[in-house]
Amino acid sequence: MSGVEVRVPIAKPFITDEEVEAVIRILKNGLLAQGSEVYAFEKEFAEYIGVKHAIAVSNGTVALDLALKAIGVREGDEVITTPFTFIATANAILYQGAKPVFADIDLRTYNLDPDNVLEVITQKTKAIIVVHLYGHPADMKAFREIADDYKLLLVEDCAQAHGSMFMGRKVGTFGEVATFSFYATKNMTTGEGGMVVTNDDRIAEKIRILRDQGQVAKYVHVDLGYNYRMTNMQAAIGRVQLKRLDAMNDMRIENAKYLTLRLSKIKGIIPPYVDPRVKHVFHQYVVKVTDDFPLSRERLMEELRGRGVEVAVHYPIPVHHQPLYRRLGYPQDICPNAIEASRRVLSLPVHPSLSREDLDYVVGVVEQLVVV
Ligand SMILES: *Cc1c(COP(=O)(O)O)cnc(C)c1O
Repeated sequence: MSGVEVRVPIAKPFITDEEVEAVIRILKNGLLAQGSEVYAFEKEFAEYIGVKHAIAVSNGTVALDLALKAIGVREGDEVITTPFTFIATANAILYQGAKPVFADIDLRTYNLDPDNVLEVITQKTKAIIVVHLYGHPADMKAFREIADDYKLLLVEDCAQAHGSMFMGRKVGTFGEVATFSFYATKNMTTGEGGMVVTNDDRIAEKIRILRDQGQVAKYVHVDLGYNYRMTNMQAAIGRVQLKRLDAMNDMRIENAKYLTLRLSKIKGIIPPYVDPRVKHVFHQYVVKVTDDFPLSRERLMEELRGRGVEVAVHYPIPVHHQPLYRRLGYPQDICPNAIEASRRVLSLPVHPSLSREDLDYVVGVVEQLVVV
């Protein structure tokens, strides 16, 4: 992107004076680390999602790590997940010494396909991690049924889906345990941060102990724990962001609607599919670039970037094709839909700070390329 000024960024944290004042309040009262602000954030987040427990942690990656530890995933277990996700989802399985088993995705929603999951279940399968990719919920009716039928544990990676709903129910309430990320680009942020949610008292207790050095009382350590704590400063930001989450999601949804209205007229650009059973919160607005478009996806990206529109590919390399996973011996020809998606998808800006003018500018650039 050398020398080109960014006119429309792909992501931008939506921060107001209220977040600024909240952090100043914590800095002035001097209790900076995990404390009452974190516990208040947990309570409010649990209420918002509709679960009994929420446990705040340092980021979404350690949230997944603790979720898997708390449900007892260990060496020798297999955990089924999607190869079309951010790498942290699969790595959390490796952290346990367990084996990630990849099932292919549905090319409409880019989420795990329940039929493909059924094909890879074995005697060793312990759990399934579904990812609600881009903010579009996975088919939780199908996955809950599969988990119940085969006695598997269901984990939801909701890092991109704060406030998403499936059949009127928030994601994060379907699995035994679910995780969120508050990284700077997510639908709500604390800079870095994460949350684990569950209705299970034992899982919650285990996670609380593990995130804080395995402590049950001051300097009494019952388990090999970690320092995965969140600070009061982050929680102060999170509480303000949570209050505005629905409004920020609505702005994403409005932006997505407008982009789809205009882009659906362009041959070779397939706007995102939305399952009628879901509330999609558009962490990313992802189009498919087909051979009907006059330029390749790579050339289209260059043209957009050259005109100051930041774009991205989520994700250009499926997890089983990553050098780390190649080394682990994963066959490269599995999950052809994930491979196809990695070659076709393109994420356009959709975040809440965009104006109608910004959206018109992005669409205008794409339209011009068709005419030329
Ligand atoms: C962002 C993300 C994570 C990791 O969260 P961090 O807070 O960055 O550690 C995990 N899974 C998915 C699907 C993500 O998008």
